[in-house]
Amino acid sequence: MTLGSISRRTPMAAVVAVVAASVALSATAVAGAGAGKDNPQVTAITVRPIHEAQVVRGDDGKDHVEYDLLVVSVVGDPVTLSSVTVLDRAGNQLGRIDGATLAAATQNLFPHTPVDETGIPSSGAAAVEVDLALAPGTVPAQVTNRIAYSVPQGSGSAVILDATEGQVDGPKVAVNRRPAIEIKPPLAGDGWLAVTACCGPNVHRDLRLAIDGRRIETGEAFAVDYGQLQGNRLHEGDGSTNEQFFGFGADVLAVADATVVFTQDGEPEQTPGEAIPATKFSQIGGNKVILQIAPKVFAAYEHLQPGSLTVKVGDKVKTGAVLAKLGNTGPSTGPHLHFELLDRPNVATGRALPFVFDRYTLAGTVDIANAQDGNIVITPESRQVRSEYPLWGSIQNFP
Ligand SMILES: [Zn+2]
Repeated sequence: MTLGSISRRTPMAAVVAVVAASVALSATAVAGAGAGKDNPQVTAITVRPIHEAQVVRGDDGKDHVEYDLLVVSVVGDPVTLSSVTVLDRAGNQLGRIDGATLAAATQNLFPHTPVDETGIPSSGAAAVEVDLALAPGTVPAQVTNRIAYSVPQGSGSAVILDATEGQVDGPKVAVNRRPAIEIKPPLAGDGWLAVTACCGPNVHRDLRLAIDGRRIETGEAFAVDYGQLQGNRLHEGDGSTNEQFFGFGADVLAVADATVVFTQDGEPEQTPGEAIPATKFSQIGGNKVILQIAPKVFAAYEHLQPGSLTVKVGDKVKTGAVLAKLGNTGPSTGPHLHFELLDRPNVATGRALPFVFDRYTLAGTVDIANAQDGNIVITPESRQVRSEYPLWGSIQNFP
């Protein structure tokens, strides 16, 4: 089923504009050399994890291990990464990224763009997004990496390295295996498409911000943007008005018993397809509600309709309580709900936390990363899901 009606006006189009190959790695238990070198060697790059890996059980039934590697070039010529191999402690290969997938996953730190095809520039830095999909229950407490790279033949760097190709054994990455937080869905009804979500490269998974000059946080790695489908369309007509979007005005619901810790109202609705860039920080995300649902666990809802908020800071709400209506405020290309959990009540400085919904029906999937011209091609499914996370492209029918 393909309809060409998903125009450039829709959030879908904005998403598919982000070239996004899946970085999902298949788990193959190939014995590998867990090389530990005693002899120090000059390398072209240094590599370290941005922070510990996080794990979520996706609605493909796999455990997705998410982390970013920060790669810094310390040579005078561009460095091209050729593969990232993920290994367990015993040296067994858990997954490998290379080719076009590695190119899409090797990104400039902020702008959601792959690094130039000539490589990571001299003194430049890049993040490599790793999405390791493993059989449920098999995630190790730590993984390590083997990163292969090359520098231009005949370059000064090749002389210093005494080779055009090199390898970094490491770094080790600790995996936070705490179970993801289980919540109720933030919306009700059928046809909710995860227009962006973990785990391939997209605007949420790619967000990295420096905090306090000491660390980089991934504030939206598990954030989901929801649009509502009828058939395979997000709106009726030409999608030029908010009212044409099926999700517009939907009730946005508390995902747990909670206390309201932040609200923001007053941002006007945008016209679909004509998102204006934010001119001040408070506009980002438009009208918002943030709930505290547990110690150091906050639920953020964004782009809400102006004047629709039913809660104020300090209110206690019960699971399922209506908080506001789905809107199109702040920089937004069409009506949608941005929803996520964070470890602090701040969408910029917090770290996105993995979550699972207690139950829903997986009604289908859309390969958004490879969608052509924003067409929504649905692979139908009908599966009762328990305690899983809605992966990018998942269509959910909520109770
Ligand atoms: Zn969003």
